Amino acid sequence: MDCLFCKIINREIPADIVHEDDEVLAFNDINPQAPTHVVIVPKRHIATLNDIEEDDLALVGRLQYTAARLAKERGFADDGYRVVMNCNDQGGQTVYHIHMHLMGGRRFTWPAG
Ligand code: AMP
Ligand code: ZN
Repeated sequence: MDCLFCKIINREIPADIVHEDDEVLAFNDINPQAPTHVVIVPKRHIATLNDIEEDDLALVGRLQYTAARLAKERGFADDGYRVVMNCNDQGGQTVYHIHMHLMGGRRFTWPAG
């Protein structure tokens, strides 16, 4: 399958991996928008948030749980951080394999751009 994140998961393309378990892989974003900017992806290919089904709820929860764990490990959980999932064109999605952005280590503004 011609999917960038599947290729990273399958080790066909290198990435700076920061966490891995049976279901999830997390790696540093190649174009970081914060001192910490990690992309957290399910190992199973799901194209967009719109494709999530009831059976995937635990998997999506694991993305969130992984984000919070990494934030704690890196010491900015209490200060605060941002998690984002972009969906489709207007949401700013560029890689069509669902992923959660974890950004931390600076102050974020709201609303997002
Ligand atoms: P999105 O725009 O929400 O689909 O996010 C895709 C993210 O993947 C962007 O923040 C990109 O900088 C990041 N990205 C693209 N290619 C790579 C790569 N080879 N390794 C790590 N991150 C990447
Ligand atoms: Zn994929």
